[in-house]
Amino acid sequence: MSDPSENQVRYDQARFVEDGHYEPLLAEKDLTRVEIDGDDAESPLPNDLTREALEFPDLSEPELARHYVRLSQMIYGIDTGPYPLGSCTMKYNPKFTEDVAALPSGAVHPDRSERSTQGTLELMYRLQDYLGRIGGMDAVTLQPPAGAAGEFVGIRVAAAYHDHNGESHRDEVIIPESAHGTNFATAALGGYDVVSLPSDEGGRVDLEALEAALSENTAALMLTNPNTLGLFERDIAEIAEMVHDVGGLLYYDGANLNALLGRARPGDMGFDVMHYNVHKTFATPHGGGGPGAGPVGVVDELAPFLPSPRVREADDAESDADETTYELFDPEHTIGKVHGFQGNWLVLVKTFAYIARLGDEGLTDASAKAVLNANYLASQIDYEVPYGPFHHEFVASAGEQDAADVAKRMLDFGVHPPTTKWPEIVPEALMTEPTEIESKATLDRLAAAFNAVTTESDETLESAPERTTARRIDQTTAARNPRLAWQALEDE
Ligand SMILES: *Cc1c(COP(=O)(O)O)cnc(C)c1O
Repeated sequence: MSDPSENQVRYDQARFVEDGHYEPLLAEKDLTRVEIDGDDAESPLPNDLTREALEFPDLSEPELARHYVRLSQMIYGIDTGPYPLGSCTMKYNPKFTEDVAALPSGAVHPDRSERSTQGTLELMYRLQDYLGRIGGMDAVTLQPPAGAAGEFVGIRVAAAYHDHNGESHRDEVIIPESAHGTNFATAALGGYDVVSLPSDEGGRVDLEALEAALSENTAALMLTNPNTLGLFERDIAEIAEMVHDVGGLLYYDGANLNALLGRARPGDMGFDVMHYNVHKTFATPHGGGGPGAGPVGVVDELAPFLPSPRVREADDAESDADETTYELFDPEHTIGKVHGFQGNWLVLVKTFAYIARLGDEGLTDASAKAVLNANYLASQIDYEVPYGPFHHEFVASAGEQDAADVAKRMLDFGVHPPTTKWPEIVPEALMTEPTEIESKATLDRLAAAFNAVTTESDETLESAPERTTARRIDQTTAARNPRLAWQALEDE
């Protein structure tokens, strides 16, 4: 590459100023000199974005294959064994959905015209429709990239609705103490004061406490149902009425939708806005930071505020096309864009494939088995389960033991442990959700792992795990700074 002389500014590094004049985007001093294939060349990147040299290991194919296979053997995933991480609904990701997402026709540039991407738009339209029908919601956006992002959209939509109605004074969001941490974060990030709601003795919403918390300042109540103890909020109709009576909105955290699929719908219970965790309920890949999707559904009154773009059937009255066509549109009072282009498209393809393959019957069957499996597992373990009757998950108590140690020890039995220490209403909580995918044999193996740990000494528990590739790791940095690079091993 030759250096551009002072008079010859390269167009890709310059900005058009006026009539045939360009000025360089970056001053000479900002450019760094890097070696590319042994040539001294000028980089168009500023110094602080470049690095001196890339040290790629020079490896043979077998070394490379071993590196990745070893990494895959060091981790535990849903393809390795049971993963009853409560609230997270760790379902097996069926491989056919990957096949569907890998079809060449799925690789669509997001800037292509609507006319040339009718199939893409139709899939999105039909998915909006499926999700709306599953949740009992009138309108759906597919944009948010995760459940937490969906919560944020839902709360921003609620805020826009209140503002539109001249009710900007509403500055409180009510959240049960036992709710997921993202609910509190969402409300705070959305600019609201959080009003924390205690549970009653049975582990459900305390109606008296709710009455006391509700006021003309209430913007919304955020609930998940069944709640984080797996208990159905039996008073949901009354709760909805109470919230609506003060002019508030009812938000449904969809993380526990797997308990209700095909049987009950948040919309019918009086919820106004909800998110769907497609990686929980609809078996798309989960964890590791995504990509995921957290579509949001709303009732008619809130539809004009949804993020843009959404997909609708085009008005074909003037054209003579006899097929339905689809188009993107911006809802009238949209809160704007919350994600690039049309959201995490290929995750949405997997969601669509999963729902379409299972159909009404399959989805209804999934929730039945999810509830059956949770109840069977709970009946087989020796730890106490203080609250019930529960649905798709239950919260056992490790009693005198430390729940985190119990979890570490369970790893030694080749199973993934439950979620620990949350919700805090159960001391040393073991929040367990086997999901519908497990067989009786696997549930028995899981129960055996729980029961083996119940009688173990503190000493054993505190030094666990001893049979895993890594032992007590720093839980925060292990997820933030994983060491995945190839390293020469002494035994090779
Ligand atoms: C998982 C979960 C969320 C957050 O969803 P993400 O998709 O992980 O962002 C919110 N609420 C509950 C109850 C959850 O279990």
